[in-house]
Amino acid sequence: MNLDEFRSWAHRAADWSADYLNSIRSKPVRAQVQPGDIARQLPDAPPEQAEPMNAIFRDFEDVIMPGMTHWQHPRNFSYFPANSSPPSVIAEYLTATMAAQCMLWQTSPAATELETKVLDWLRQMLDLPDDFRGVIQDSASSATLCAVLTARERALDWQGNKQGLSKLATLRVYCSQHVHSSIDKAIWIAGIGQENLVKIPVNDALEMDTDLLEKAISDDLAAGFLPALVIACIGGTSVGASDRLTDVCKVAKRHNLYVHVDAAWAGSAMICPEFRSLMDGVEEADSFVFNPHKWLLTNFDCSAHFVRNPTDLVKTLAIQPSYLKTKGHEGIINYSEWSVPLGRRFRALKLWFVIRSYGVEALRTFIRSHCQWARELGARIEQDENFELVTQPYLSLLTFRYAPKGTGDLDDLNENLLEAINNDGRLYFTQTHHNGDYVIRFQIGQTYTTEQDVSDAWEIIREIAAGLEVRRE
Ligand SMILES: *Cc1c(COP(=O)(O)O)cnc(C)c1O
Repeated sequence: MNLDEFRSWAHRAADWSADYLNSIRSKPVRAQVQPGDIARQLPDAPPEQAEPMNAIFRDFEDVIMPGMTHWQHPRNFSYFPANSSPPSVIAEYLTATMAAQCMLWQTSPAATELETKVLDWLRQMLDLPDDFRGVIQDSASSATLCAVLTARERALDWQGNKQGLSKLATLRVYCSQHVHSSIDKAIWIAGIGQENLVKIPVNDALEMDTDLLEKAISDDLAAGFLPALVIACIGGTSVGASDRLTDVCKVAKRHNLYVHVDAAWAGSAMICPEFRSLMDGVEEADSFVFNPHKWLLTNFDCSAHFVRNPTDLVKTLAIQPSYLKTKGHEGIINYSEWSVPLGRRFRALKLWFVIRSYGVEALRTFIRSHCQWARELGARIEQDENFELVTQPYLSLLTFRYAPKGTGDLDDLNENLLEAINNDGRLYFTQTHHNGDYVIRFQIGQTYTTEQDVSDAWEIIREIAAGLEVRRE
């Protein structure tokens, strides 16, 4: 493809993108295909000869698009949001065009310095402590892995990377039962082992029971283990469970443990002062992660990882063979020393475009609206005698189930309801279990969602539920 053709296809892609977003409401939210439907239409072997761009683009529209689930659909209420927005897409396009590797300061000084600057903007937006320093990771999973590795090395007096873990003390890590699976995975990868991840029960408010945390740490010390880290959660994935950071940090600090806070989804809401109290106590934590790629209009990947002491992180992850040394620059930041992969995309650019093009006040309004609509929806569900609001709105997430009077198996009924809703195509939801019951999660956070979409969604749910066959006891 020569550059004239590139210009013309890039224009075509821009037109396609605007048309796509304009017509997205008419598409089924979840792809309505069966396993293998797309693969069957794709050749088994790569083409030996060049194919015309026209043919590639046509297949993109005809073969690929029917197999896409539309995450930017305004009635996508599934999982957590994965926001994109026009300024973010434009910056991403520029990033891909330059395709700079941003691993060291000198491999693109602007990328490093912009990253430092916009992460500090985010720090101010969330009212995090002045001494927190930020880095962009590809995902919250990676940020948590970095935190686990740092805590591991700190507890082992920096001997883990050197000697391996087999002859060293057995580490223990603590978290509530409500943390995301990425915590377990980080513990596996860090060589600590699932059996050494101690899941502390929660109280009625779904907060980690800190008396039980204290007891678990004391018991482990008595048994000869080495407690290293507590991972606290703000806005858990299932129903929004959150720990009381002040209490968690108090116990952890008494035993000199590292505290990492996973606020992957809920962190974005902390730009609103009225929600900030949900993370009171974060001042005492050692690291904190949240995903602008979830609920802050910045397309994946962009995970903001803040640490109180970058030296510990760098001591854990920096490795400097001679081919990566930069002569004559002391005190510069090489962000690859703050993360697991060496190569790094220029992710700060899209964050900069987003924050500047919306302004913080509009971003607050965006989050506030979603939380407000969730509260209103919660009230409507509570008033409906055929439905139960199972968990109250936490920010913009609630769970509910269909429970018409005298029904037998509610789990079965709600599983059928969810399947019917997602097959219908106008809406998309996902499920979870709460206290053993199958419930449907309703989270509001998509870039293009309106109040009307939320209202319509509730009417459509009622309509589909009314059409289901209900087995009476
Ligand atoms: C989404 C989520 C994660 C995982 O985020 P990735 O960026 O996909 O790794 C971790 N923790 C919580 C609470 C989440 O909601």
